Amino acid sequence: MIIDLNSAVEFLKNNNNFLILVHGHPDGDTLGCGFALREALASLGKTARVCCNDPVPEKFNYMGKADGDDFTPDKIIAVDVADTKLLGKNFEEKYGNKVDLCIDHHGSNRLYAERTLLDSSAAAACEIVLQVIDGLGVDISKLIANCIYTGLTTDTGCFRYSNVTPRTMRLAADMIEAGAENAKINTVMFETKTKTYVALERLALDGMKMYFDGQCAFITITQEMYRLSGSDETEVDAIASIPRQIEGVKVGVTMREKTDGTFKISMRSSEAVDVSEVCATMGGGGHPRAAGCTVTGDIEKATETVLSNIKKFI
Ligand code: 5GP
Ligand code: MN
Repeated sequence: MIIDLNSAVEFLKNNNNFLILVHGHPDGDTLGCGFALREALASLGKTARVCCNDPVPEKFNYMGKADGDDFTPDKIIAVDVADTKLLGKNFEEKYGNKVDLCIDHHGSNRLYAERTLLDSSAAAACEIVLQVIDGLGVDISKLIANCIYTGLTTDTGCFRYSNVTPRTMRLAADMIEAGAENAKINTVMFETKTKTYVALERLALDGMKMYFDGQCAFITITQEMYRLSGSDETEVDAIASIPRQIEGVKVGVTMREKTDGTFKISMRSSEAVDVSEVCATMGGGGHPRAAGCTVTGDIEKATETVLSNIKKFI
């Protein structure tokens, strides 16, 4: 059931013990939502834990640490999670059919939760969580401001993408006024690169291929490339934005080999193609300019599957 902001606020007011789930391979938006909401609920004397199926990269430590999920909540909340699959395998099995409230900004949300507060015009789920926190009457602490700012900046590529609206900018300004360390956060998220990441990026660029007269740029990250660079899955997200940067590219693809032999696809596009539609043809989803899915088969077969589906759209 789709609910409105007031109903979501009432739901939080009327319960006391929450498990907040973020998506697997967590990013700044899902973690910003989770940690901001945990802080807001705690300030009202409620108990809230933030749990993730996967390890949280250290660069997010300034927002707090994830909790263990060894407790029995009254209610379960998922933030920035469009599909139970995205919770990660264990968490999907454990909690997939038990989510009481989902707060999300993906138009492709599968409405798996008992209640869903959805606004696909929000650049980040953090925009919606901030409105919920305001609705609860909680003051925006410096920590909450840092969390919400993190979601806003990471889901907009530092306020560069077409999902940015006047509201996004106004809320970011509000967060800076409330103490968000905007320059510091942007440095950590967009400037600082580990040596292992740089080594991985070099391998990725070396192997990049172009298709369809330069309209599609395709990067493949293999397990072997992680071994050679010393990098790992926690660092790979930033690569997804690279293929689209090339002039003339309508669809940028980053395909990563997972340890279970499947391939995780990250697609980015210009105005020309709605990649959430392309990914939907392969069981995935996301936003018009940033979407994803998982494909199976060996590397050649997986590449072929992705390319043949892109071809229908360009
Ligand atoms: P990323 O490429 O950064 O993993 O994801 C880009 C966007 O697409 C995110 O908003 C993410 O939630 C969404 N997305 C990625 N993979 C999937 C998927 O397999 N299914 C769905 N429904 N959405 C996905
Ligand atoms: Mn998001």
